[in-house]
Amino acid sequence: MLLVPPLLVWTLPQTLAGLVFAAWRRLQGHRLEAYRFGPFLYLVVPAPGPLSPGISLGLVIFASTPDLLKHEFCHLVTALWLSWLYLPVYGLEYLIIGHDRSPHERLTCRFERTIPWSWHRLHRRRGEESPGPTERR
Ligand SMILES: [Zn+2]
Repeated sequence: MLLVPPLLVWTLPQTLAGLVFAAWRRLQGHRLEAYRFGPFLYLVVPAPGPLSPGISLGLVIFASTPDLLKHEFCHLVTALWLSWLYLPVYGLEYLIIGHDRSPHERLTCRFERTIPWSWHRLHRRRGEESPGPTERR
């Protein structure tokens, strides 16, 4: 919880974009969920993001399937050094050399394989007795 205010400022442009798209998805009827991954808290929209089935926009994650969550959570690690340059750097890398060859995308894939944290949904869904499965890898 203590990390949320500094991370909001550190990732402000992409988090604001994420909140705008999350509000748009909410108006379409999608739910918004709170998740924890390691020490970080996220707002997750279990629906495709803008332009992609999964996208990380600061503290807001869009994932059309749970399989995408860990990768999208790991994008916050690269955002820790890119800060407000996150969107321009990723945008230029994807535009110039493509998504799969982007150095930051490759680094995120490496974090996805090596970071031992699991993610947890922080609340119950309607009708559930517990907050649902926790990813264990
Ligand atoms: Zn990625």
